[in-house]
Amino acid sequence: VKTVIYNISELVTMAPLAKAQKFTHIIHDDLGIVQNAWLTIENDKIVDFGDTKLFDLKGCRLIDAKQGIVFPGLIDSHTHPVFAGSRSHEFALRLDGKSYQDIAQLGGGIRHTVLKTREASTHQLADSTESNFKQMLRYGVTTIEAKSGYGLSVESELNQLRAINLASAKTWQRIIPTCLALHAIPDEFKDEESYVKEMTEVLLPRAAHEKLAVFVDAFIENGYFSARGSEIWLKTAKNLGLGLRIHADEFSDSGASELAADLNAHSADHLQFACDRGIEKMAKAGVVATLLPGTSLYSGIPFTNGRKFSDAGCPVAIATDFNPGSSPFDNLPFLAAMAGVHGKLRASEILAGITWVAAKSLNLQHKVGALATGYQADLVLHHCSSIHEWLADMGKTPPSKILISGKEVS
Ligand SMILES: [Zn+2]
Repeated sequence: VKTVIYNISELVTMAPLAKAQKFTHIIHDDLGIVQNAWLTIENDKIVDFGDTKLFDLKGCRLIDAKQGIVFPGLIDSHTHPVFAGSRSHEFALRLDGKSYQDIAQLGGGIRHTVLKTREASTHQLADSTESNFKQMLRYGVTTIEAKSGYGLSVESELNQLRAINLASAKTWQRIIPTCLALHAIPDEFKDEESYVKEMTEVLLPRAAHEKLAVFVDAFIENGYFSARGSEIWLKTAKNLGLGLRIHADEFSDSGASELAADLNAHSADHLQFACDRGIEKMAKAGVVATLLPGTSLYSGIPFTNGRKFSDAGCPVAIATDFNPGSSPFDNLPFLAAMAGVHGKLRASEILAGITWVAAKSLNLQHKVGALATGYQADLVLHHCSSIHEWLADMGKTPPSKILISGKEVS
């Protein structure tokens, strides 16, 4: 059945970006905005779009956009949605002056979530993960990257990845699982080397064999994992056909942005303290710089200067980093606006950063992130009359309709 969405005040297609496969220096004209538009869908894909024109609507399913806007489904390319327990008490500790590292030393932080998550069953984790995914749908998020990383043992990491897959089967959203076993060194291991060795030699082949993950990730930071120590994990994953993402240079310049470029990672995330050489190398290698303003807002650490990355020629994406400790936000439009304000990014860069460039960071740039011919019909209808009005709304008003692969899901 052919679907026609008509009476659209502004249709944001990103089609010029898709056509040129362009990811950097994104300006307003690149967004491919069509005024007074219509769009047609057949099965799960976009067929065509344009401005006012008469065509045969016989036998078509019609959707009246009522002079609202239509834009590509949002893509949250960095989340930690699989966990048990609460770390809300840590917020007061932060306000009392304790740092992220101080709280970790007091038994809080990632280790606290690990204890609670290990006690939870696969189905308990799948249920809470599914509800986290559903919450994100309120903002028009149709694709979500979801990380493990609160298991930190072979069985517990596999358990988390299975929970992601179970939750994925129960939601319409596209879920991209990432194995983040290198999130922290658990107490059972004395050093980085022995832990990385076990995860690389035992966990990785099993996760790859069971097709439980599309990417792997590593938290490269003082007190967590070193760039050198993480290399074997990342290289082995790459050899197994998995893509790479890195938590890079959030608290200090740890060499992670340079490593991301050397290994052709799909994305390096956080990046507050990335050095100029790292930024330059990332631009050359086409590594997406993913900004996560949530941790800056919640923990008072510096914001990443997105302008610097964009001007250097890096593709720039924005994600929530949704997690129970350092960024409890799941409102992607709000955080995108904050990345703009504090990271000095243009409106066009923000809009592409939560759709088109985020798709590239997940290696989905031929499938989603744009409403171009042949792309998946993942899209959001919103009653705002322009995309700039929607941007200023910062996620306050929910979409009027959401389609994923052409199906109405909300
Ligand atoms: Zn993260």
